Amino acid sequence: MRVNLAVIIILTVLAGSSTKPSMEGKVKKIHKKALTVDTHCDTPMNLLNTGFDIGIKNQAPRNRVDFPRMEEGGLDAIFFAAFTGQRARTQENYQKAYGRANQMIEATFTVCEKYNDMAKVALKAEDAYKLEKEGKRAIYIGMENGFPLGTSINRVEEFYNKGVRYITLCHSSNNDICDSSTDREGPEHNGLSSFGKEVVKEMNRLGMLIDVSHISDKAFFDVVEESVAPVMASHSSVRAIANHNRNMTDEMIKKLAENNGVIQICLLDEYVKDPDTTTMRYKLEQEIRQNYFSIWEELSNEKKDEVRQEWNAIKEKYPKKLPTVADYVDHIDHVKNLVGIDYVGIGSDFDGGGGLKDCVDVAQFPNITREMVKRGYTEEEIIKVWGGNFMRVFREVEKLSRNN
Ligand SMILES: [Zn+2]
Repeated sequence: MRVNLAVIIILTVLAGSSTKPSMEGKVKKIHKKALTVDTHCDTPMNLLNTGFDIGIKNQAPRNRVDFPRMEEGGLDAIFFAAFTGQRARTQENYQKAYGRANQMIEATFTVCEKYNDMAKVALKAEDAYKLEKEGKRAIYIGMENGFPLGTSINRVEEFYNKGVRYITLCHSSNNDICDSSTDREGPEHNGLSSFGKEVVKEMNRLGMLIDVSHISDKAFFDVVEESVAPVMASHSSVRAIANHNRNMTDEMIKKLAENNGVIQICLLDEYVKDPDTTTMRYKLEQEIRQNYFSIWEELSNEKKDEVRQEWNAIKEKYPKKLPTVADYVDHIDHVKNLVGIDYVGIGSDFDGGGGLKDCVDVAQFPNITREMVKRGYTEEEIIKVWGGNFMRVFREVEKLSRNN
């Protein structure tokens, strides 16, 4: 009896040890082989904070991106977004947004020069493949919100010349380019404005990727109609799974596939899974939203601070249950089943709210690869999701620009 039990234990241990390493080995091999690209993070905001050093691992653990953690997570390329929040469209605010976007772009160049053994600013699709061979991270620059353009079409080329390779046409509110998916006042232009149409044309001419994340559904369909090149959503998920206006409907995803574009699935909790509306945290947050958000700009600075403190206290007291990598990969499955594997990729929104229970930062990206391997995705499919699809779009945008 004893002997039998011992034999069983040994066999069990052997069985375990023979399957585990092969699964892990496969995950590692595929993750290493793939050119891994994350098309959206808001890290440049952190670069403007004095005291944050992107070359030091975990120096600021609340920040989700630094060069050593990119290396640890096998992340080859990332888009740093020069983000500006939408404010009233006055000349003064246009100038402020323009100045801030420039600061973030300059800061990105500065840190890449400082740590040129680890990272380099990339400008063309091919650069990421070259830098991967050199063992360096490719840092691309995007711009989240076209607000810094003001109403000046010349600034599109100006920012292109400064290294910007995509523009997310708007952010949480409508701007001069188009309607936002989340503006409280609803649509203003019924989609893309006439200035927006000029911007799309100019971006096509220059070879800049048009980012349709954040824009309204109608604006999305207008952009696809106007653009001669494929477009991408740098950080959006699937609305059929998480019912948020920031996510794309099946109809939009089908149109995007027809356009040969790509949806880069976002890691932000509410875009991955509908929030649990029964929790105390949700209830208290909703109260604050209802009481203050519509009158926010009218509040005194003291009152704003008070509300912020209240908000942070709720966050501390009732920690959020974040969705998991498995919930996340459900979105990739959905796009694959709807239109095929060629139209989906990854855009974290790290440092802008993105993060899952088991993928809190760039170092944990291999967990996404592991989940895809577990679900039976082939090596070829995983390589497409991690960067192949996005790079196809990027190259096509570059090519069409040269042909024009
Ligand atoms: Zn965003």
